[in-house]
Amino acid sequence: MSAWQEQRAERNRQSVARLTRTVPDIFPSAVLSRALARPFVPPTPRLAIDSYWRAHPLRADRLARALARISGAPTRWTWRLDERRKSGLPATFRPPPAPYRERAFSRGPGHCCVCGQEVYRFGWHVDLWDAGQNRKANWHCACAIAWQFWNAPSEEARLLRRLQARRCAESGGRLWKNAEIDHRVPLFRVWHERRDTPWPELLDYWGLPNLQAINRDVHAAKCADEARDRSFARKTVGAFTA
Ligand SMILES: [Zn+2]
Repeated sequence: MSAWQEQRAERNRQSVARLTRTVPDIFPSAVLSRALARPFVPPTPRLAIDSYWRAHPLRADRLARALARISGAPTRWTWRLDERRKSGLPATFRPPPAPYRERAFSRGPGHCCVCGQEVYRFGWHVDLWDAGQNRKANWHCACAIAWQFWNAPSEEARLLRRLQARRCAESGGRLWKNAEIDHRVPLFRVWHERRDTPWPELLDYWGLPNLQAINRDVHAAKCADEARDRSFARKTVGAFTA
């Protein structure tokens, strides 16, 4: 065993000891068994949960959207942007609309700012411990991972390529290593044409239902078409408003 391997083994022994000492009797078993099988064992229950969702971004995406469906949109909320960034609203249509992140609609400590539901111990979404809301938290661990995924789906390109059995979703041809992640319905179109879709169904445009891995050349051609559509839309609107 090399010195590095010995160091890692020792570190893992300590982490396993710490994790087994601190993990409560009730704990999601899938999370615990995964944590103990890691090459670097997360030393705390909280880190074990975080590492679990990090490994399952698509599960996190599905769960976050399901939790948001329970909350629904706050009354009087609509998806708005603020190009001057003065009100704390997003400046562009790129980030997913998140009513509970807006000051006016936040549900306060102990509620997740992504889905609006209560957050429990360790950032979990179910109160397995009967301990009530975790008032120090305002994100579910799962929703934090979903949020990252929605904002940077390309980070999970490998996973999405595998999910499509390495077939290009547009051309049906073999998916190359440098394949790119594309929004089937481009986000500018969501903002211009579908912004009245009720929340949280809107979130589906950022999640897996609207994502596809496509080859780079196909993506470039699709983007060029979309850019043409955008410029045509701008000119048409210009003609009507002039
Ligand atoms: Zn949440």
